[in-house]
Amino acid sequence: MKRPPLGSTGLEVSELGFGASPLGAVYGAFAEPDGIHAVRTALDLGVCFFDVAPYYGDTLAERVLGKALRGIERSSYVLATKVGRYGDDTFDFTAERVKHSAHESLTRLGTDHLDLVQCHDIEFGALDQIADETLPALRELQDAGLVRAVGITGYPLDTLRHVADRAAVDTVMSYCQYTLQDRRLARYVPGFARSGTAVINASPLAMGALTERGPAAWHPAPEPVLRRCAQAAALCRARGNDIARPAVQFAVTTGTFAATVVGATDAHQVRRTAGWITQPPDTELLHAVEECLAPVRDQGWANGRPDDQHPPARP
Ligand code: NAD
Repeated sequence: MKRPPLGSTGLEVSELGFGASPLGAVYGAFAEPDGIHAVRTALDLGVCFFDVAPYYGDTLAERVLGKALRGIERSSYVLATKVGRYGDDTFDFTAERVKHSAHESLTRLGTDHLDLVQCHDIEFGALDQIADETLPALRELQDAGLVRAVGITGYPLDTLRHVADRAAVDTVMSYCQYTLQDRRLARYVPGFARSGTAVINASPLAMGALTERGPAAWHPAPEPVLRRCAQAAALCRARGNDIARPAVQFAVTTGTFAATVVGATDAHQVRRTAGWITQPPDTELLHAVEECLAPVRDQGWANGRPDDQHPPARP
């Protein structure tokens, strides 16, 4: 497993990160021992980067991840969590709340420091507040030694770019936008690199749309996108393959990101994913899948506050 630097933070992550939102039962119920086993298996396979948030399962994911990491040498893994989002429609990016939130995460995760704290889904906040109040509050936690690096996450790339231009951020995480179906994140990487911001690619399986199981009912992608993803999965199945395999291989081996973060709740999935990135992609299958998904390439959805506070796209 490669260990790239996380931008200029001084941290090293694994190229494959463990996304812990499924440990919040975001994709359905799971047995806690299985989730803990998945985390331990990831560590055994060289995964050292873990991403979580209080929002996932109303703190459940942080509590399960905290249990799974108990007793593991702290310097052997890089732990990222988030602040500011606490429910589907519950956001609070005030300095007071995010500082308190980081302290709560420290307790749930059973650690004395967080390697990375990210403002969660900034498109739902007031961007002025994120830049002028939230990020400075997180920098204060960094000065106090509780946090090593500070970042932002969200879906609209122009919004992430706008805030990264206004306030120094160490990392940016976006999701579902460097996959077999959507490549838009790649266009933003050089711009973020110029401002010294590491880019983390989350959800290379398009939050389940590029899996055999298919998307959860809450998946926000337009119906034609989900239909094409299902057709691509069927195409892979007909050729004796699981679409998750080319999806993971494509994102990890062709993406130029600090890390690619995949979510899982069971050790079997973790083993398969870690194995796939060591194998060469089946280029013929990849082309067939790309052709199938071409009519919906780069099609996403609107995300964020309904008021028009977002700047126009500017990679
Ligand atoms: P994902 O694209 O990683 O897909 C996860 C789904 O794929 C789960 O249902 C999982 O069971 C399944 N899966 C995983 N490995 C598999 C395999 N080998 N074979 C078949 N199926 C497999 O989506 P995600 O988990 O939502 O995203 C990854 C992580 O990125 C999240 O857990 C979270 O940490 C982060 N993330 C952050 C944001 C944000 O900050 N706004 C948004 C999305 C994701």
